[in-house]
Amino acid sequence: MSEIKQLEADYLIIGAGAMGLAFADELLKHDKQASIVFVERRGMSGGHWVDAYDHVKLHQPAIAYGVNSLELSESKTDLSSRPQIIHYFERISKNLVSTGRARFLFKCDFVGEQPLDKGAIATVASNIDEGVSYRIHVKRKIVDSGYMRVEVPAT
Ligand SMILES: Cc1cc2nc3c(=O)[nH]c(=O)nc-3n(C[C@H](O)[C@H](O)[C@H](O)COP(=O)(O)OP(=O)(O)OC[C@H]3O[C@@H](n4cnc5c(N)ncnc54)[C@H](O)[C@@H]3O)c2cc1C
Repeated sequence: MSEIKQLEADYLIIGAGAMGLAFADELLKHDKQASIVFVERRGMSGGHWVDAYDHVKLHQPAIAYGVNSLELSESKTDLSSRPQIIHYFERISKNLVSTGRARFLFKCDFVGEQPLDKGAIATVASNIDEGVSYRIHVKRKIVDSGYMRVEVPAT
């Protein structure tokens, strides 16, 4: 049996990796009204870091990585490890949800969009509940943060 859930938001962000979270972090800071729905194929935030091998580290000091509202590490020169980075992305996501203006649809795929005069209707499919999909009225923009198409050896 199929079920279509209806949602509404100003922005739909495809992907909850570094790029999508950084965009949302700034957006919610500067626009006090904006609401966001994230659609993420993986089961949690963090993008490719979710699947990376545990021994993989950042290539640069922690101070230069992440979102503007939260530091990745107290030691600014750290080359952070995957577990540290995953924990960091979790904290960012909780902060975004705590604003009451962001929600995450994990294990879901962005399927497509139907443009409207203003905004669009996005279709999103659940990867765990067969037959469940979302019809999301996006009032402003659909933002594809998976644009870089990052791939890691672990996958
Ligand atoms: C091993 C490694 C080390 C790195 N080190 C550094 C570093 O030190 N400093 C630096 O600046 N950069 C580094 N990078 C670059 C890195 O790619 C970025 O820093 C950043 O993590 C990438 O984030 P992203 O959001 O662009 O992509 P991703 O992390 O790939 O996130 C995109 C997300 O979009 C989701 N997605 C895509 N399409 C869909 C869809 N249709 N429906 C639902 N979800 C979708 C994917 O599941 C994914 O989770 C490194 C990269 C790698 C691989």
